[in-house]
Amino acid sequence: MAKVTFIGLGVMGYPMAGHLQNQGHQVTVYNRTSSKAEAWVKQFEGKQASTPEQAATGAEIVFVCVGNDDDLRQVVVGEQGALAGMATGTVLVDHTTASAEVARELAETLVNKNIDFIDAPVSGGQAGAENGALTVMAGGSETVFNKVKPVMMAYARCAELIGDTGAGQLAKMVNQICIAGVVQGLAEGLNFAKRAGLDGEKVVEVISKGAAQSWQMENRYQTMLKGEYDFGFAVDWMRKDLRIALDEARKNGSALPLTAMVDQYYSDVQNIGGNRWDTSSLMARLEHFNRAQ
Ligand code: NAP
Repeated sequence: MAKVTFIGLGVMGYPMAGHLQNQGHQVTVYNRTSSKAEAWVKQFEGKQASTPEQAATGAEIVFVCVGNDDDLRQVVVGEQGALAGMATGTVLVDHTTASAEVARELAETLVNKNIDFIDAPVSGGQAGAENGALTVMAGGSETVFNKVKPVMMAYARCAELIGDTGAGQLAKMVNQICIAGVVQGLAEGLNFAKRAGLDGEKVVEVISKGAAQSWQMENRYQTMLKGEYDFGFAVDWMRKDLRIALDEARKNGSALPLTAMVDQYYSDVQNIGGNRWDTSSLMARLEHFNRAQ
């Protein structure tokens, strides 16, 4: 059992840190809004610290799951950041969905202090975090990954090292690129079915047994048909992820025409008030345009 720290008790981090404590690890948490950390301590009986530095002091592994690149820099290398409290030979594991660039930047800063870094974004959403069934895609050294993997398995059903530092973030970009096109296709299909006067549920019951089947179809078609977009992964986060992927594509020369288009569609969703709707709300955008016609 390890002495660990968890920084960032949001939708994902709160249950992830809870699984670590439930597995018997000694967990100290830090959250910017301290009321969430207080609620966590009450629920899981771990410890709470008032700064990332204090939280990281004495920990063997420091886990972070915050919003974006700048948030990550702030809690790791900012004033009273985790780095200031971390000892030689310890590891920082970042579960934030961030750029590959910030992963390389932090790994370089940490290595100068003999601290290891693993970029480890996750997939599986809120339900995956709550059920301890996340997929972790990691970048960094194999020896270090093998050291932290057994601890991460408290909240993951699969954790794989993809390659060197940044490879975990690049794999997560692939994940988001694949999702963007699939969700738009599903939204168009369901919107078409409704406009054609078909029973959408009946159509999906049949076509989900064939080549059109997807995770999005299985898990989202009913709520999309009902116009419910109030759960899962927020549009604001998806736009952050697609921007990271589009930036990386400009560097590596890959064409992402569909991803760029879907990113713009999500900007339409934001314009009709859907910043916190989940990503299947591309359907709401189509219905909005149906009405405008
Ligand atoms: P969230 O609920 O908005 O939580 C974000 C957490 O980061 C909160 O604890 C927040 O603290 C903290 N934070 C943000 N900026 C900070 C800063 N500058 N300094 C200190 N703390 C800061 O987000 P989430 O849904 O847990 O997502 C976290 C990360 O996982 C994101 O990168 C997201 O893209 C990724 N992710 C999310 C999902 C999902 O389904 N939600 C799935 C896969 C990956 P406060 O409580 O004070 O705001």
